[in-house]
Amino acid sequence: MSMVVMKFGGTSVEDPAAIGRTAAIVAGRVALGKTPVVVVSAMAKVTDQLLRAGAAAALGDRTGALAISSRLRARHRDTACALVKNPADIADLLNFIDLKFDSLDEVLRGLAAILELTPRISDLIVSYGERVSSRIVAAAFRELSIAAAHVDAREIIITDSQFQKAIPLDALIEKRAAEKLRPLTNQGKVPVMGGFIGSNEAGITTTLGRGGSDFTGALIGGALPAEAIEIWTDVDGIMTTDPRICPDALRVKVISFEEAAELAYFGAKVLHPATILPAVKKNIPVLVLNSRNASNEGTRIISLAPHCKSPFKSIAVKKKLSIIDVVASRMLMTHGYLSEVFAIFDKFQCPVDMVSTSEVSISLTVDSNDKLPAIAAELGKLADVKYEGKKALICMVGEDIRGQNGMAAQVFNAIRHINVRMISQGASEINMSFMIEEDDAEEAVRALHAAFFQHPDPAIFDVGARKKLVDS
Ligand code: ADP
Ligand code: ASP
Ligand code: MG
Repeated sequence: MSMVVMKFGGTSVEDPAAIGRTAAIVAGRVALGKTPVVVVSAMAKVTDQLLRAGAAAALGDRTGALAISSRLRARHRDTACALVKNPADIADLLNFIDLKFDSLDEVLRGLAAILELTPRISDLIVSYGERVSSRIVAAAFRELSIAAAHVDAREIIITDSQFQKAIPLDALIEKRAAEKLRPLTNQGKVPVMGGFIGSNEAGITTTLGRGGSDFTGALIGGALPAEAIEIWTDVDGIMTTDPRICPDALRVKVISFEEAAELAYFGAKVLHPATILPAVKKNIPVLVLNSRNASNEGTRIISLAPHCKSPFKSIAVKKKLSIIDVVASRMLMTHGYLSEVFAIFDKFQCPVDMVSTSEVSISLTVDSNDKLPAIAAELGKLADVKYEGKKALICMVGEDIRGQNGMAAQVFNAIRHINVRMISQGASEINMSFMIEEDDAEEAVRALHAAFFQHPDPAIFDVGARKKLVDS
């Protein structure tokens, strides 16, 4: 049985038309003799709105929170009615939607009374997005003669209890996938489940972090295992940079797991940073495809990508970062000093993206977060500390950058008009990163893209698409 996990993002299920396109794509795979397992996100923007409802309730704005929930209820009901015509099925589906929004309203009312939004409650609130979208998509598939079976993702994606960024427990997921998905696929059914959400071993709802539906897709792909994991989104694949910044970005036809992981970690939103790992473990290719342009071949992520004549594959940008400067009069490299500094970041569970040291100072970059004042206060016991927000990290990814002479000079020449705060090129052979002001980020990406993707290698990049753009 050739199993394929098909993950559809928020824009691929955003309205009845998008869900219709998604159904046609899945039906196409079934017609090819494949056995799909479908993972869907919440409808576009729903997670943001649920978070907003939670934040309003926690501030005591009960009316505002319930108004958001009521708009979401109407949007889901309208979508369901547009897609499902069978009277028994639509009655059942609307009943499901109402029950879910009734219980969400109860949570929001409770929250508006106790005024304390914990990570655990936040996960419960956002989980409604995927719980409802997956149920609607399953019903819409059945209406279109796909033998879909809805599965509650929380029965399969078992995680630890770190709410909002839960770590999946692979062995349990594998067991649950065998128990709950395999019997369905064996009967020729297409399981449809929500991404992003899971539960701990006690059955309490958790989430895998924003953008986590990609991760669910890869976890299920690894657990089954599937022959391929397809990530269906709203762009043609992994592009040479975010097409919202450079509309002339090109599709990368093939890229290595390592390069894709680096891009995702350093801000290319097209993939959740943890997505690649379960696929790497089982050597399962990941494809990034466009649900609005399904015939496009997308990007294939594989263990060893073919040699590329262009130095870089893609440019990622990560915003909302802060830079922390730790300046000590005593020698930084004194035995144990760095570990004291890192122990503080560890204590606050604050990952560090980039580090650079001199004899007396150490600069670190982290995601801007509300723990920074407390981290700075603790670091202040060791040294003088300054921190500044509104920074962006630009990350250029390509195979063997280190092996190419003069690459750094070419990169910094392309952005010579921009002030660079911190540079890192040693930790990984395939990544050159530097930190700039957030306001300069888009200009820097455009300048670098113009400099390095002028003559792209046609074996790796879809240069035909650029030619069409020029001709039209
Ligand atoms: P989904 O909802 O399908 O998960 P996302 O919004 O999470 O979709 O990710 C897709 C978006 O990622 C694209 O619309 C694009 O703007 C952005 N993006 C950022 N960097 C890249 C890149 N290098 N290649 C393709 N898309 C990128
Ligand atoms: N709905 C979740 C989010 O918006 C997960 C996802 O879409 O991948 O973050
Ligand atoms: Mg995403």
